[in-house]
Amino acid sequence: MKLGILGGTFDPIHLGHMAAAEAALGALSLDRILFIPAGDPWLKAGTEVSPGAHRLAMVRAAIAGDDAYESSTMELDRAGPTYTEETLAELQEAYGPAADLHFILGADAVRDLPRWHAPADVLARCTLVVMGRPAQGELDLAVLDGILPGSAARAVSVDLDMGVSATEIRRRAAEGESLAGLVPEDVERYIVGHGLYVEYKERQ
Ligand code: ATP
Repeated sequence: MKLGILGGTFDPIHLGHMAAAEAALGALSLDRILFIPAGDPWLKAGTEVSPGAHRLAMVRAAIAGDDAYESSTMELDRAGPTYTEETLAELQEAYGPAADLHFILGADAVRDLPRWHAPADVLARCTLVVMGRPAQGELDLAVLDGILPGSAARAVSVDLDMGVSATEIRRRAAEGESLAGLVPEDVERYIVGHGLYVEYKERQ
């Protein structure tokens, strides 16, 4: 089974994430994509992160009704900092050796990979699916070979032109601006209904 994995803070999940999932699903003929909200996104230390229950609820609202998409609480349920290497190991264990893990991430995240916990193990456990993000400039996968020789050749990149970021959405929500066209409608309703990000500006 070709299993796509889209991990993220999802604070909030937005149409960039949805476009990335859809593009990866089609380009790689994945059977399913698991959306996994991070428990403790330690690489974003210094940025205040909404409670996991809100981030999970927004993910669930965004993917509701699509059979190819599932959410997982495995990282929210795990204590301590969230390490993708542990997530991939758990998934390999749960799905067995026939599972072909495809980890989807934005081009910006590739640059951060050397700072991840056990990055060589991450690359050894999955095929990396790199989604282009506008404003990221030229995509340079050479960084992958620096972590695990040969891994750049195994990575797949998929073109995507969705200039949406969660940071911009939190800013707009704080200003009371519309989020139409940036997040699914149910996610916008959730954000407004729960008053998420209203104090975002004060935290900057
Ligand atoms: P923030 O603006 O708070 O940093 P974000 O929009 O990057 O958040 P995350 O939840 O941290 O959202 O992202 C999860 C994954 O989705 C990361 O691998 C990120 O690179 C990727 N991603 C986010 N937005 C896009 C986008 N517009 N196009 C492609 N990939 C994206």
